[in-house]
Amino acid sequence: ETTAAPNFIRNQIREEIEAGKLTKIVTRFPPEPNGFLHIGHAKSICLNFGLAEQFGGDCHLRFDDTNPAKEEQAYIDAIKEDVRWLGFQWAGDVRFASDYFDQLYAWAQHLIREGKAYVDDLSPDEIREYRGTLTEPGKPSPYRERSAEENLDLLERMRLGEFAEGGKVLRAKIDMAAPNINLRDPILYRVRHAHHHQTGDAWKIYPSYDFTHGQSDALEGVTHSVCTLEFEDHRPLYEWFLDNLPVPARPRQIEFARLNLNYTLTSKRKLKLLVDEDIVDGWDDPRLPTISGMRRRGYTPASIRKFCDMIGVTRADGGLVDIAMLTHAIRSDLEDNAQRAMCVLKPLKVVLTNVAEDHEDVYEVPGHPAREDMAVRQVPFNRELWIDADDFMEEPPKKFFRLAPGKEVRLRNSYVIRCDEVIKDDAGEIQELHCSVDFDTLGKNPEGRKVKGVIHWVSAKHGVPLEVRLYDNLFMVEQPDRDKDADFLEHLNPDSLRVCQAIGEPSLAEALPEARFQFERVGYFCADRHDCVNGKLVFNRTVGLKDSWAK
Ligand code: ATP
Ligand code: MG
Ligand code: MG
Repeated sequence: ETTAAPNFIRNQIREEIEAGKLTKIVTRFPPEPNGFLHIGHAKSICLNFGLAEQFGGDCHLRFDDTNPAKEEQAYIDAIKEDVRWLGFQWAGDVRFASDYFDQLYAWAQHLIREGKAYVDDLSPDEIREYRGTLTEPGKPSPYRERSAEENLDLLERMRLGEFAEGGKVLRAKIDMAAPNINLRDPILYRVRHAHHHQTGDAWKIYPSYDFTHGQSDALEGVTHSVCTLEFEDHRPLYEWFLDNLPVPARPRQIEFARLNLNYTLTSKRKLKLLVDEDIVDGWDDPRLPTISGMRRRGYTPASIRKFCDMIGVTRADGGLVDIAMLTHAIRSDLEDNAQRAMCVLKPLKVVLTNVAEDHEDVYEVPGHPAREDMAVRQVPFNRELWIDADDFMEEPPKKFFRLAPGKEVRLRNSYVIRCDEVIKDDAGEIQELHCSVDFDTLGKNPEGRKVKGVIHWVSAKHGVPLEVRLYDNLFMVEQPDRDKDADFLEHLNPDSLRVCQAIGEPSLAEALPEARFQFERVGYFCADRHDCVNGKLVFNRTVGLKDSWAK
């Protein structure tokens, strides 16, 4: 079986604890509430909450809510639900970066008084221009030498809404020639006349990510502030704020490689576009790599946690992770835990000519071949059955071990039958098959011949109609967003969803939303959370049976 891959952050913390440098760890998961969480976030959640769990520390859930224009309460609610569904609980109440707006403002004033921040009137374009490039140093803004008094007054008036958006910003005064562009007088506050989901209309200025994140970590006593590698270049700035402000604690930023999965996208912005353009059925469309989409598809929390263990945590950009690794994780969970059932996706009628009209057997069949704790299923058998049209061929190739004219096959859990006649309509379409039962084959091999094939079937009298949604990759190429300028929508898979009207064994009629099954010989399926209600049966294909993941 698969084991956990290396996790350098876990190793590092273990060493720190063993060396007595650390008594309790505090981590945080800091989503911006501007979309639903995806599998990349799951990596960060499993890492941060997992470390706290493993070392007896705390993990905070902190909404990084400094950009009110893009944020919504609905996203906050969905994020909380996803974290809990994955099986994690944050320490204490949910936190918001906006809880610290007063403190951050006081610290901005502190920097001004120390001569380390100033209000700049340059426009956003000018600021970009003055900032320079990797090969050219920046040049100072003409507003850089304003007095502390003037800066304090302007900042206060910015806060009260006296200035238009883009008219003024507060910047740290660090070094316009620094090789690291993030240190060339970074922006601390912008004017935004926006309503905020937590603070209402109290603020007309909002702090930048950089000015917010490390100080929030410090205020919460976070010891290890884990983030993705894009923030490596921001670390000197993270530390500059901690060095230059009277913060109560000294958190440390540690970067790791983000997760990228093939055949999908792990960017909230791009996923939002698919949702906004109605290309998918909302944020929890089972084709999306969102946590709620995967839940609706039939993934279990355990399978996602296992996947995150399997991929490990490193600083080396691991390129694209094969989605087969993710499907392997859910498949092996369902193999062990999903109840079995028979379901025919492409029904073809079989009439058993030597079975009486009123004949009825009911087989007691295990819910799972290796799980005695699972309820036994009652599977009725009658004269008329459905089999899958793909299990019959009129002119079969040599190695076809299923049903064909004059050939025999075993009905799973039942008898061996022989196809005697193919009934067609005027157009030559197959209507039904007439077959006969060998009654001497229940639970034993037929006399004098070998029957290799076993097919699944459902009693026509008792079978229940199901809508089955067959999901496939949303994109046809491994990296739909590889070319930055090209439109990833060009790579959409037109067959990412096929719907079929199937017929299932009667035990499926009781399926509750989110119940998971193996449809024998077909794949793993999950009763749709939203649509499998009020007597309507709707199942989503989670994954097929065949595992293609090679270690
Ligand atoms: P996106 O780019 O999809 O919008 P984000 O990084 O902007 O994601 P946040 O809400 O800021 O989204 O992310 C919360 C946390 O999840 C951050 O610490 C971030 O580093 C982490 N995270 C986001 N995407 C990934 C990923 N693909 N792999 C690992 N961690 C990720
Ligand atoms: Mg972000
Ligand atoms: Mg991002």
